[in-house]
Amino acid sequence: MSEYQHRARKRFGQNFLHDAGVIHRILRAIFAREGEHMLEIGPGQGALTEGLLSSGAQLDVIELDRDLVPILQHQFGSNPRFRLNQGDALKFDFNQLQAAPRSLRVVGNLPYNISTPLIFHLLSNAALIRDMHFMLQKEVVERMAAVPGGGDWGRLSIMVQYHCRVEHLFNVGPGAFNPPPKVDSAIVRLVPHEVLPHPAKDHHLLERVVREAFNQRRKTLRNTLKNLLPADAIEAAGVDGSLRPEQLDLAAFVRLADKLAEHPNAD
Ligand code: SAM
Repeated sequence: MSEYQHRARKRFGQNFLHDAGVIHRILRAIFAREGEHMLEIGPGQGALTEGLLSSGAQLDVIELDRDLVPILQHQFGSNPRFRLNQGDALKFDFNQLQAAPRSLRVVGNLPYNISTPLIFHLLSNAALIRDMHFMLQKEVVERMAAVPGGGDWGRLSIMVQYHCRVEHLFNVGPGAFNPPPKVDSAIVRLVPHEVLPHPAKDHHLLERVVREAFNQRRKTLRNTLKNLLPADAIEAAGVDGSLRPEQLDLAAFVRLADKLAEHPNAD
């Protein structure tokens, strides 16, 4: 066993990519270029890191597992365009990267247990980000890219699509990883909107309306929203209160949130 051998850790969600064809396909989809500022979350043993650096881009990485630090430093530390940040990406202050507005290109084969909170953490810094490419559980990508009317349309679809254009690029089977995960994966591209297509007066109120509406997705909006908005306020927002939440598009949820902003119940 070499001094740099590392055993995958379950608690850090470590499933390392080892299929060269899949790695190449991901790197081609990202298409990093010289002079760009890339941020890789969870570089692991460097499966994607190598190709990202060889593009000529500047690369920041954030890795939680301290045991991977010497492996990554040994492999990439001599490159002046490489900067390793050891820590938890969920707590990372992205302002410390001193990135220009809309410049950061974020990449990650993410541990499945942190993917949703991490994407929300990144979206709260959306102004810094040009695009994001993630490997996620396939069902999560399907929910992000969903359209209204189906079972996949819900809180995640709405809040991600509020901030970003979503593209489900391709699927990746468990055999591409070591150890193989129990689920199928997919690559998603998220591009923050330059101008929000449906800006809410207060996006916290949008989150609140959406959370409340989908708490009981089989009930009518009139029913699920009764603690937030009276039936006449729902109608005044141009929304039919007898519909179920999955039948409403993003624009309709924004109208409800804006109605809540006018309403004395809003705090
Ligand atoms: N990018 C590598 C690859 O494709 O082979 C590793 C992917 S592995 C699924 C996820 C990586 O994220 C692991 O290296 C793990 O240690 C790291 N990680 C887990 N939780 C993290 C967190 N909260 N912040 C930063 N990195 C994390």
